[in-house]
Amino acid sequence: MSFSNTTFNNANNYTILSNGITLPSEKQTLSEIIDKAKDWAVNHGVAKRAENDSEFVTFIPFLLLPSPFPRCEFEKAIALQPILNELLHNVAHDYEFLKDSLKDTIKADEFTRNLYEIYEIIHKEGATQDISLGLFRTDYVMDVNSFSNIKQIETNTISCAFASLAQNTYRLHKYVLTEMEHHEKLKNLPENNALTETIIGLIKAWEIYNNNKSAILFVINEYSKNTYDIHFHEYEINNLNRDLKVIRRTLTQIADTAKLGPDKQLIIDGFEIAVVYYRTGFIPEQYNSKREWDARLLMERSLAIKCPSIQYQLAGTKKIQQVLAQPNVLEKFIKSPKTIKSVRETFTGLYSLDFDEYGEQAVNMALENPEKYVLKSQRDGIGNNIFGENIRDFLIHTKDNIDRAAWILMNRIFSPVVQGFLIQSERMGIVDLTSELGIYGVIIGNSSEILCNKQSGYMLRSKFAEANGIGVIRIKNGGIDTPYLT
Ligand code: ADP
Ligand code: MG
Repeated sequence: MSFSNTTFNNANNYTILSNGITLPSEKQTLSEIIDKAKDWAVNHGVAKRAENDSEFVTFIPFLLLPSPFPRCEFEKAIALQPILNELLHNVAHDYEFLKDSLKDTIKADEFTRNLYEIYEIIHKEGATQDISLGLFRTDYVMDVNSFSNIKQIETNTISCAFASLAQNTYRLHKYVLTEMEHHEKLKNLPENNALTETIIGLIKAWEIYNNNKSAILFVINEYSKNTYDIHFHEYEINNLNRDLKVIRRTLTQIADTAKLGPDKQLIIDGFEIAVVYYRTGFIPEQYNSKREWDARLLMERSLAIKCPSIQYQLAGTKKIQQVLAQPNVLEKFIKSPKTIKSVRETFTGLYSLDFDEYGEQAVNMALENPEKYVLKSQRDGIGNNIFGENIRDFLIHTKDNIDRAAWILMNRIFSPVVQGFLIQSERMGIVDLTSELGIYGVIIGNSSEILCNKQSGYMLRSKFAEANGIGVIRIKNGGIDTPYLT
């Protein structure tokens, strides 16, 4: 679709975007740049399968030009990532802490309970493989109410998507800026090797396993629109090590064929698996039946290094995020008061809905001022959060029900609004957006040592300012982006 036959939403007549870049005034020139950008995107993996037609590839909604983000806040987030990696690693290796923090959640939430039961089994049996690989991502937005400091939205410890999209979008933006003859502006785009760094982490875990005939297993859904992001991970493994075999299987296929070898090696269709990389398994619908749960347990019991291990996945739940924000909890895991302060500054108010005095207080706060909060379940993914008046409706029905403890309450963060030029098939033009920054991290280790710990690039998504936090790809409410540091 060319620019000329799409709707150009320019009601406000902006020509200067919030990043300070002026759009070409000639419609024809702008149209050419848009078409070039779309072609570049499709040809370099800023792409997805089209709606209703798995044979057809289209671009992922993206911003034509990168969106402004304060340099100091970006650098703060980058510097925090190894600290957060280590924090989650230590949380994941503290049995009593996980048990105590999740005790009410697992009563109310069957999915977390299923994960927790696997964790308990492995804990009792003793792990065959004590090393875990974490490919984490911490998400932040800027908070207008705290002088535009970044605030943490969540930490993700399983299936952290978009590393390849983010790396490719960074390159797309360099291409577009160059096409527009803004070479001098390239320095404001921070280097992004999110995909390459992620894959270096995966390969490092494979090397630690120490069997050069072994393979890496990608555990995937049968169908995903985000498949190309996953495929690029495979291509990058191949780029970096041509001898390293990758196989993809669904949880159902694994249930059909996986077995354990004499030393509990994970064997799938004749391949010994060194690393299990989950790109599924984080919502209940991805486990069709008990067989898929059994497959998960079998993999946890195996000698393969899991990304993430069951304890890393539990450490990434919203409940743990809420517990970590309580007074004196970070102190259990981080020694330096200065570091604790810098982590805590990125937290906003998080409240338990457990059945105790604090839970009752939180329910009352949310009933009184629902617009100030977000209700979150333990479900990762999109569209699970409850905002505004819907919080009141939900709590009126749930407040005396055990289900309440499956949720946490969080202060709603209001982010600065910026104007960017969005490229979407349905909606194209200048729109009001808020941006969410994700910082990737890699960690490898066991309870006694950390073998690798680093930040590994970033991702920016910009969403319609009015959207209530729904995903960028599935529900078209924004686009993939790059920070333009200011
Ligand atoms: P998940 O990605 O697991 O569904 P998130 O915690 O990332 O859950 O929430 C989804 C989206 O909801 C975020 O990307 C963000 O846009 C929005 N959101 C989440 N928490 C808040 C908050 N405290 N204030 C404002 N928006 C939020
Ligand atoms: Mg999220």
